[in-house]
Amino acid sequence: MTGTPERRAAFLQEMGIEPLWRSRAAPAAPAAETQALAEPSMPVIEPVDAFGDLSVGAPLAETLETGIAPATVTGQSEVAHMDWMQLKSTVAGCTRCGLCNGRTNTVFGVGDEKAKWLFVGEGPGRNEDQRGEPFVGQAGKLLDNMMLAMGLRRGANAYIANIVKCRPTDETGRDRPPTSAETAACIPYLERQIALIQPSIIVALGKIAAISLLGLDAETPVSKLRGTVHRYADRPLIVTYHPAYLLRNMVDKKKAWADLCLAMATYAGLC
Ligand code: SF4
Repeated sequence: MTGTPERRAAFLQEMGIEPLWRSRAAPAAPAAETQALAEPSMPVIEPVDAFGDLSVGAPLAETLETGIAPATVTGQSEVAHMDWMQLKSTVAGCTRCGLCNGRTNTVFGVGDEKAKWLFVGEGPGRNEDQRGEPFVGQAGKLLDNMMLAMGLRRGANAYIANIVKCRPTDETGRDRPPTSAETAACIPYLERQIALIQPSIIVALGKIAAISLLGLDAETPVSKLRGTVHRYADRPLIVTYHPAYLLRNMVDKKKAWADLCLAMATYAGLC
């Protein structure tokens, strides 16, 4: 894993998180030492107080049973057998839903195609549509910093994708969430990406990503999904807030960091 302690510290400072972390195994340390950040690779970390309601480092037992299989690729047998080149080419020319009409570029995904970590967002925004890459702009910077704090970066053991590959906009041209029909049309591509990557763990960024991957009701709030190790196709899935939401709701950055700690502890338990 990569990412210097300084970068991680900078991220945590940006997140508004005080030095609250300590190793269970560590002896009582001077005040200055307790400010050191726990390494993401350390499986035994615990929240001291601010995140006391979260089960960081807990066993991988599912505390929420969705009981619903991930979205299927019904009618998409060709997609389910594509290799990377075929998949990228198919997405680039896709007209399966109306979002193709307004796009500048499809936004396929980016990162290590054998990554252990997969981050899934909702759909491209204006910047992403222009660049053809997910999570650019301010939300992308925040996601990069979140990953750096975990010792990850895009292109190195992490892959970033979205539920839909084309930008959804409303009648005024502003970004909007994808509809269920658009999600259903596009999710076979993400399913194939997941099958090709074979990530060890998935982090769902925001409600749309979470409910789409877990097959949940559209009204399910993110707050009900956080703090739990879900399952997607036999691998753990952690839900946290979308970086764009965090930019507008700074107070929830601490909760997002708790989610990432849960993800790191879960991943450490797999190794
Ligand atoms: S959003 Fe997905 S299904 Fe719809 S046109 Fe774009 S690539 Fe095709």
